[in-house]
Amino acid sequence: MKNWNSLDADINLLLECHYTKGRQGRTIDKIVLHHNAGNLSVRGCFETWQTRQASAHYQVQSGGIIGQLVWDGDTAWHAGNWEANLTSIGIEHADVSSSPWRISQACLENGAHLVAALCVYYKLGRPEWGKNVYGHSHFSPTECPASIAGNQRAAYMARAGFWYDQMSGNRPAASKPAAPATANIDALADAVIRGEYGNGDTRRARLGNLYEQVQRRVNEKLGAGSSSGPNIDALADAVIRGDYGNGDERRRRLGGLYDAVQARVNQKLS
Ligand SMILES: [Zn+2]
Repeated sequence: MKNWNSLDADINLLLECHYTKGRQGRTIDKIVLHHNAGNLSVRGCFETWQTRQASAHYQVQSGGIIGQLVWDGDTAWHAGNWEANLTSIGIEHADVSSSPWRISQACLENGAHLVAALCVYYKLGRPEWGKNVYGHSHFSPTECPASIAGNQRAAYMARAGFWYDQMSGNRPAASKPAAPATANIDALADAVIRGEYGNGDTRRARLGNLYEQVQRRVNEKLGAGSSSGPNIDALADAVIRGDYGNGDERRRRLGGLYDAVQARVNQKLS
């Protein structure tokens, strides 16, 4: 996705047929998962649905790229059940292998992240199978979504929960395995520096249990990481933006750099 928070897909390739405009006054209260029974691209889905009287809102490719084919505000024809179509978002997933069907790790990761992003955006609550996330087979007789409702379901839903917690600032009761979280710390730090996580309490809430780790990485990136020594100037700018809070908090977070950074802040503000 270009932006998980605003649900901006990597590719927008909107269908002109085989969906229904609007939602007939109904609201979105669930997500329905599908598999391609094949390894399709976003374009591949688009072509298929030119002739086949079917559609879904999103397709997740095996490499993790996500395409939007029907706007969320319109009704896609995917669940085989009109009531379910009117009240759901349909997500298709490419299979990286058949017999047995299986989706790739990247597809699983980004599909689950999309589920989380939709749950946050439409206020559906934490992703939960059978409550706000369903397989296609719940609504009509089909094998779809194959492994996503089978031996990949637990992993898929665990990642959906993980991403929901990241995005909503939930603090999960159980601690998460360190490896997947660590892998994202760097990207999260970059996003923080770009300003996507706000400041102070907002940032703390939105980063949830990753806050300390990410903030440490942000500090490294803005300061001590480079061989030329801490970037006092960048730190001073961050302080002025409010990234380091005030008083004792600022002092604690800047540690040994406090005096140098504060002097630079005073210069900049004078
Ligand atoms: Zn399906």
